[in-house]
Amino acid sequence: MHEDFDFIVAGAGMVGSAIAHGLAGARQRVLLLDGEDGDYRAAKANFGLVWVSGKGYGNTHYQRLSYEAGRLWPAFAQDLERESGIALQYENRGGLNFCLGEPQFEERSQAMRRWAARTPDLELGIEMLDRAALERRFPTVRFGPDVAGACFGSRDGHVNPLRLLAALQAAFLKRGGVLKSRHPVQHIEPLAGGGFAVRSGAARFAARNVVIAAGLGSNKLGPMVGLDAPVRPQRGQILVTERLAPLLPVPASGIRQTGDGTVMLGVTQENVGYELATTVEAAVSMSRNAVRVLPDLGGARLVRQWACLRVLTPDGCPVYAGSASHCGAWIALCHSGVTLASFHAGPLARALADGALPSFLDPLHYERFTIPLAA
Ligand SMILES: Cc1cc2nc3c(=O)[nH]c(=O)nc-3n(C[C@H](O)[C@H](O)[C@H](O)COP(=O)(O)OP(=O)(O)OC[C@H]3O[C@@H](n4cnc5c(N)ncnc54)[C@H](O)[C@@H]3O)c2cc1C
Repeated sequence: MHEDFDFIVAGAGMVGSAIAHGLAGARQRVLLLDGEDGDYRAAKANFGLVWVSGKGYGNTHYQRLSYEAGRLWPAFAQDLERESGIALQYENRGGLNFCLGEPQFEERSQAMRRWAARTPDLELGIEMLDRAALERRFPTVRFGPDVAGACFGSRDGHVNPLRLLAALQAAFLKRGGVLKSRHPVQHIEPLAGGGFAVRSGAARFAARNVVIAAGLGSNKLGPMVGLDAPVRPQRGQILVTERLAPLLPVPASGIRQTGDGTVMLGVTQENVGYELATTVEAAVSMSRNAVRVLPDLGGARLVRQWACLRVLTPDGCPVYAGSASHCGAWIALCHSGVTLASFHAGPLARALADGALPSFLDPLHYERFTIPLAA
């Protein structure tokens, strides 16, 4: 048996790395075990939005959580950059959701009004900009004729997700954490005196607590410690162009110019199981849509297309839970791990270090899928 830790975190993707980083900052001895090179890794293939607008449309608890994560992001980014020495290319100057045609503009206006009305105490920073207002706000951008307007969210932003992941892991190591790649957790066993033995190949490690944050790999691990949280894949495809002169000053849902000048176009939502292939149909529809919004993209060369699998719970909202049968075992799953990284590395990690999840996370327990909430 290898040395004892306070926490073993299974999965060094976006969620596990953020939690491990936060736990190490709370003076916990943390071992972060990551899986095999061929694993599904949403952390390495996502769009990089830090997004609040419209999040938790049917779930106020998730809406509040996204708002809180967005609020924490600027200070989180600043601290992480300082500690890791890695520039995150984080910007929080707002974000756009374009509407093609008047009916879409009207539909989105109503949807955002309903969304905002659910949490009147929050300053959500949402504005519907008609075409004239959009052109006044972004005078350097040439919009396509079909653009009727956009929803502007002042709390939205973006980050380089690969740098974010690298920074979380670098800062975690600087805080004294231990990271072992290619060490998939194969077995978790409760120990007689409390705590857990975790097996990975020939190695065995022990810790008082185990956090399962293995994305799509969590399906296998959770049941070992009484955490039967359902999770399924959903394919998302993304295109990226060559580097271009600045053409969109803020990110948009589906189009974002990165800090390096490339433009990412996306993102599909396809329920095709664990199928990772890219498709011509997706490339056509994403690029057509982007050119309708920004005709200047019409001459851009596409340099890459990829597909990756989202980590989705049945209602698309996050799951946070402690095991009722195995004290000290926890699970964290979500499909907006970039946006929620500030919360995972901050309040969530501190709560885990203190041994209890905050009560405002109770509605995000996976029991909601089996036990109907009281009216
Ligand atoms: C196309 C696409 C676009 C997205 N865009 C955004 C966006 O703009 N903004 C946003 O906030 N989110 C976005 N996301 C979602 C975000 O990427 C995920 O929420 C996040 O990566 C989930 O983190 P995770 O750690 O749960 O899973 P992952 O990042 O997938 O990481 C899981 C990790 O667990 C490891 N693992 C698996 N099994 C084991 C095991 N047995 N033992 C140890 N380790 C194991 C794997 O090796 C992997 O490293 C996007 C996702 C996709 C697919």
